Amino acid sequence: MKTVLVVGSSNTDMIIRVAHIPRPGETVLGGDFSMAPGGKGANQAVAAARAGGRVRLIARVGEDVFGERAVLNFEADGIEVRFVLRDGRAASGVALINVAADGQNSISVASGANAFLVPEDVLKAEPAFEGADIVLMQLETPVETVRAAAELASIRGIPFMLNPAPARPLGDDLLATVGVLTPNETETEILTGIKVETGEDARRAAAALRARGPRLVVVTLGDKGCYAAGEGFEGAVPAFQVRAVDTTAAGDVFCGALAVALAEKRPTADALRFASAAAALSVTKLGAQPSAPRRAEIDRFLIDRAGPPTT
Ligand code: ADP
Repeated sequence: MKTVLVVGSSNTDMIIRVAHIPRPGETVLGGDFSMAPGGKGANQAVAAARAGGRVRLIARVGEDVFGERAVLNFEADGIEVRFVLRDGRAASGVALINVAADGQNSISVASGANAFLVPEDVLKAEPAFEGADIVLMQLETPVETVRAAAELASIRGIPFMLNPAPARPLGDDLLATVGVLTPNETETEILTGIKVETGEDARRAAAALRARGPRLVVVTLGDKGCYAAGEGFEGAVPAFQVRAVDTTAAGDVFCGALAVALAEKRPTADALRFASAAAALSVTKLGAQPSAPRRAEIDRFLIDRAGPPTT
């Protein structure tokens, strides 16, 4: 089993289904309420653990019931929680999500303890890097923390993978420290200025990003699959056709599974197919973490589908 070290956010998602998104001053009586563990770091950690990785997580949660539940959830998925810090200064991260009948949503996020995950935390958690095969991060924690983790990974010769979400511009100095970069269409546009509408746009954007440092760039394109550019592999990987129910954490599941496959040193084309299969399975179920598939399910799906052709 390969070790994936995830450094990132943990939130609790509070979701209300409403007829329409409330305007300022308006109260909309909603339908069902549901609460689910979320946050890109936590989602990707859970996805990686279910996809067959030994996962360690460096994160911060508050000293409250949400933080407690988050840690229990991580433990239930076999994630090592020794480096999940409890923070008395801030509440656990919370996302309030309105989902309207037409599928539109509005989300407000209180980062809470996630904003306190600072470079010193990463330095103090250095033992977590011991024996790690890949380090995986996102952008829901301070960007200096990304830099610190990337530097530590680089010193130890561990590949560093960044899912640059949510979208924000990044400096060349930071991108130069990233080994594997996985932006979606929006993030790609923010990073490159290239609006990704066609396969050719994706190819150009991936090339532009690769020129700034990463040895593998994967531009994810939702139900159109992804376009990857790296040593030994360049091309489009179509998405598996499934009946989509909820595409919420497709990107998170894709990244968690890809990190495991790359840690296992699979050829890039195989790793991308494995991640695409995991993500496709996740969109057939509701929720973020609940929808992340297990290794056996991904392997079976890949055999059943015999894999889409890669071009
Ligand atoms: P994000 O959730 O970060 O915006 P994407 O929407 O690009 O990420 O999805 C990530 C990956 O998940 C895609 O590259 C694709 O492999 C898979 N995926 C997303 N939506 C679907 C879908 N409707 N059907 C099958 N696979 C999907």
